[in-house]
Amino acid sequence: MARWAYVNGRYLPHDRAAVHIEDRGFQLADGVYEVVTILGGRFADMDGHLDRLDRSLNALRIPWPVNRPVLERVMRELARRNGIHDGAVYMQVSRGVAPRDFRFPSPRPSSLVVTTRRVQRWTQPGQLEEGVPVITIPDIRWGRRDIKTTGLLAQVLGKQQAAEAGAFEAWMVDPDGTVTEGCSSNAWIVMAEGTLVTREPSHKILNGVTRLALLRLARAAELTVEERPFTVAEALAAREAFVSSAGTFALPVTRIDGQAIGTGKPGPVALGLRRAYIDDVLRGRL
Ligand code: PLP
Repeated sequence: MARWAYVNGRYLPHDRAAVHIEDRGFQLADGVYEVVTILGGRFADMDGHLDRLDRSLNALRIPWPVNRPVLERVMRELARRNGIHDGAVYMQVSRGVAPRDFRFPSPRPSSLVVTTRRVQRWTQPGQLEEGVPVITIPDIRWGRRDIKTTGLLAQVLGKQQAAEAGAFEAWMVDPDGTVTEGCSSNAWIVMAEGTLVTREPSHKILNGVTRLALLRLARAAELTVEERPFTVAEALAAREAFVSSAGTFALPVTRIDGQAIGTGKPGPVALGLRRAYIDDVLRGRL
């Protein structure tokens, strides 16, 4: 089956789709992105992702490349052309093509690239039965982590370090000893007495669209929730830990830096929220 991508107004064969060498996304990481999951043929929380795209673009003063209904139509059309029933749509917007200069160029069209990815299975064998390991690393990123920018070098290095350590994810830690988030996920713990804790939105983390959905589900289930920073020591003493993102939903973490968390097995809060989230997407409630 032919694979299509979308670049600046055109659907192109994936292997021939390209941006200009002076695209500011390519040269300066002067762009933002979103990843929307397609689960059972349904887009998960399209509105949440497009709302965040709007915030990222506004924060960087990058104009929308096309209006929102058109972008949504392109995403759905590309997924249809590529026959994606389970997978993800990736979209990237940059400040356009201009001779390389740090300052903003004169007004010009933003670049828009949309691609899709097929997912055969959402977890690897054993991940739901055993949970996944994470490591902790210093958070070396810039001060506006709330903007979903394509400038991801710290996360590239962190994910590679995690992979080399046999871990699924790296949790980044601020100089004060608190966990900010994972390289591509938000971080959660369940304290020994049952309180669910995840860091509050600020410039220090990306406010995950999945994070927001899980918070709503947790509150609906009458869990006690605290949005606040937590330390690595608190995480090590937790009953449960998990990560959340568009592609992992809620995924149990059972080892941090090699130390078992709680019973060392996935716990009911993480697995329950995961089930509730997937259910909401499949039923078209998200
Ligand atoms: N934090 C970071 C740094 C991320 O890159 C991501 C997703 O890629 C998330 C959190 C989770 O965000 P979302 O739930 O919107 O996928």
